[in-house]
Amino acid sequence: MRRRERGKAGFTLVELIVVIAILAILMAVGIPFYLNAKEKSKEKVCEANRTEIMRNYIYESSIGGFTADALKQAIADSGYSGTVTDAGNATLKGACPSGGNYTVSVNASGTITVSCDRHSSTISTNLGDAGIIQSVIDTMKNQVAGISGTPHIDSASNGKRTQNVIAELKTAGIDLSSSDAVTWRYINANRFYFTTVDISKISAGAQVPVIKYNSAQKLYSVWLTGTYSATSDSKVYYNALTGNEVKNLYGGVADYAKALANLKAALKTYGY
Ligand SMILES: [Zn+2]
Repeated sequence: MRRRERGKAGFTLVELIVVIAILAILMAVGIPFYLNAKEKSKEKVCEANRTEIMRNYIYESSIGGFTADALKQAIADSGYSGTVTDAGNATLKGACPSGGNYTVSVNASGTITVSCDRHSSTISTNLGDAGIIQSVIDTMKNQVAGISGTPHIDSASNGKRTQNVIAELKTAGIDLSSSDAVTWRYINANRFYFTTVDISKISAGAQVPVIKYNSAQKLYSVWLTGTYSATSDSKVYYNALTGNEVKNLYGGVADYAKALANLKAALKTYGY
């Protein structure tokens, strides 16, 4: 009788201890995992904010080159304020979700570096740097070497060639995802098309302005090009640039910042 009553009353002490022990184990496993995921997402936001500052600085430099004023304007364009001592020296706070401070610098060849004292990754891919854009072309050229016809590589494909290119460039310190090449298509014979627009959500067939870099001439021109629905190796459909040159919007220039300003104007004209 007594046993039954005790059973009805609820959990025994042993059962409670077991439950608490299980909960403790779950928390011990789960909390670090949760904190790690949270920190990872903060790091992603930090990288996106630094990419934005870098892009704005390249854009602002199209007017009068890399100057303290251009850097000040780029920081303001990005929605932050900071201390700018000269064209290659600025610090700002408030952009990193983990509370890190940023340092913006630019070297003689125009490569901008935006670093965070809380996050180790460096954002510094400037497609206006002759060495960087040449590495991009060379890496892609190597990937299609020996393939007949007019081989191409697309940014959104999950195919092997795209993955190899992204990995190889990362090893060389070039992160295309933090550059202006949000969407790109490499076509054999020195042609690299890219744009700051993410075309994954637009309707396939729409036309979009892109920068074409011709590595033989070392010139950046702006073209209107088509898009289409492509299939990857694993039969997944994604939007890709056709690389068909529908219309020349701005002629070739050697100054990347100017080409970027032309692209911005073209994107505005076409409603992007
Ligand atoms: Zn940070």
